Amino acid sequence: MDRRQFIGTCGLAAAAGAALPVLNSCTGPAGKLGDIKESYQADLLVVGGGPSGVCAAVAAARRGRKVLLVDNGNCLGGMGTKGLVGPFMTCYDAAGENMIIRGLFEEIVDRLIELGGAIHPSKIRQGTEYTAWISEGHDHCTPFDPEILKKVYDRICAEAGVKVLFHANFVSPIMKGRRIQGAVLLTPSGLEAAHAKMVIDATGDGTVAYRAGAPCVFGDPESGRVQPASLFFRINNVDTYRLIADVVPHLPEFRRVNGVSYRCLHWRVAEAEAAGEWDLARKSVNIWRSVEKDQWVVNCTRIHGVDATNCESLTDAEVEGRRQVEELMNFFHKYVPGCEVATLMGTGATMGIRESRHVQGDFVLPVQDLIDGVIPDDNILLSANSIDVHGAMGGPAGGLYMPIKKNMYGVPYRCLIPKDVEGLLLAGRCISADSPAAGAIRVMPPAMAIGQAAGIAAALCLENGISPAAVDYSDLKPALIEQKVYLG
Ligand SMILES: Cc1cc2nc3c(=O)[nH]c(=O)nc-3n(C[C@H](O)[C@H](O)[C@H](O)COP(=O)(O)OP(=O)(O)OC[C@H]3O[C@@H](n4cnc5c(N)ncnc54)[C@H](O)[C@@H]3O)c2cc1C
Repeated sequence: MDRRQFIGTCGLAAAAGAALPVLNSCTGPAGKLGDIKESYQADLLVVGGGPSGVCAAVAAARRGRKVLLVDNGNCLGGMGTKGLVGPFMTCYDAAGENMIIRGLFEEIVDRLIELGGAIHPSKIRQGTEYTAWISEGHDHCTPFDPEILKKVYDRICAEAGVKVLFHANFVSPIMKGRRIQGAVLLTPSGLEAAHAKMVIDATGDGTVAYRAGAPCVFGDPESGRVQPASLFFRINNVDTYRLIADVVPHLPEFRRVNGVSYRCLHWRVAEAEAAGEWDLARKSVNIWRSVEKDQWVVNCTRIHGVDATNCESLTDAEVEGRRQVEELMNFFHKYVPGCEVATLMGTGATMGIRESRHVQGDFVLPVQDLIDGVIPDDNILLSANSIDVHGAMGGPAGGLYMPIKKNMYGVPYRCLIPKDVEGLLLAGRCISADSPAAGAIRVMPPAMAIGQAAGIAAALCLENGISPAAVDYSDLKPALIEQKVYLG
């Protein structure tokens, strides 16, 4: 494929003037864009190797499809590895009695445990140090080690026969009319074409769907906001028992006032604030005990108004995130018993983005369906994760937290099908859901279950020569169950 064909195929002619200087800066000494190498041919191309993308790729490969999984980073796992986000939120029903997210998620957890990289969710109860002492919606989380998770993902993909490419940036879809037929990737070798009969968008930001022409909304169109971003970090050298001893006597004071949480270490934050040494939006510190005895995960930085689809906005956020981490480390050293000599193990290799584009399908999952516990006719998973919309009240720290009214809810297969593009399925955070509904199903266990369903549906499309909209639920359901997905 030469440059002219590429621009035509990708529908980029109008944008060529703006796009070329950027791409030229990555080309050889001649300063030309150069030809696009015809490098890959697959049944299914999965773009994005986060929890949803991995599960989509493995699920399809286990049905015998030739799968190419590409990610722009150096490992699989997305936010859970590069972003250092954790633990896995709950995979249990709201009563905390039964594990309802199973399938590939459960297999991954079991493999982590075998390698000493996780604690089984059955052993983790709400209101303990493993849940940052949070109760509502935090029963049966799964603490895990992100380095071991990288290994598990590598192995599970290799065993399934998934071809993985790291350092491969999705640039543009290859389109024939409204049908997506692959993607142009920017890799260390230059521009490379990956052709595929089906594509799954697991980028989190819905980048593939957006560039292929699917309608998208950004954040919550009603409020014009996106959830704030957070840079996660991990610390060690913590005297865990002294830290716990400082927190436990304060548990009865934990409260939420006007959407602001006064939870873990709020008494220490008050001390720092009084001394003029705290300028962060949050009034408490979410600090989660991890798998190793002296290691903790900190979710406390908060950056508002980040546009994950804008390079400058993301860059500013990364810098501000690291500034906040520095302030927090000073806070730990000076104010928190047990953390006087804590060491910063590392910050996420990427800013944690909770929300950006929501791709639109014919059906947009409304949050009310989750609250009411609707189990749709084309259900692909069961979940009980609460509706957790950070920053929804617009204030610096306010959040919207809605528990669900029933024991669980379902997610319809329809949410994985974007409007206006053929041959494409959605997985993970970007599926067709309204902003608060996405606030519940964006967490990793449901994201994995959505990915698994997308992979199975893509395989069914390929097996039967049909489009995603034509997948019959009477075929999809047994295929999900065959891969140990729990549907009640
Ligand atoms: C701050 C924060 C805290 C969170 N806390 C928790 C928690 O405690 N527990 C929990 O279970 N969940 C949590 N989540 C939610 C969860 O981590 C994400 O929503 C989930 O990882 C989404 O999965 P995904 O596969 O859709 O996307 P991601 O995990 O974002 O993965 C997408 C992958 O696609 C890649 N990609 C994107 N664009 C391109 C491109 N153009 N080319 C190639 N590759 C690309 C990305 O680099 C990434 O690897 C949190 C999220 C955030 C941001």
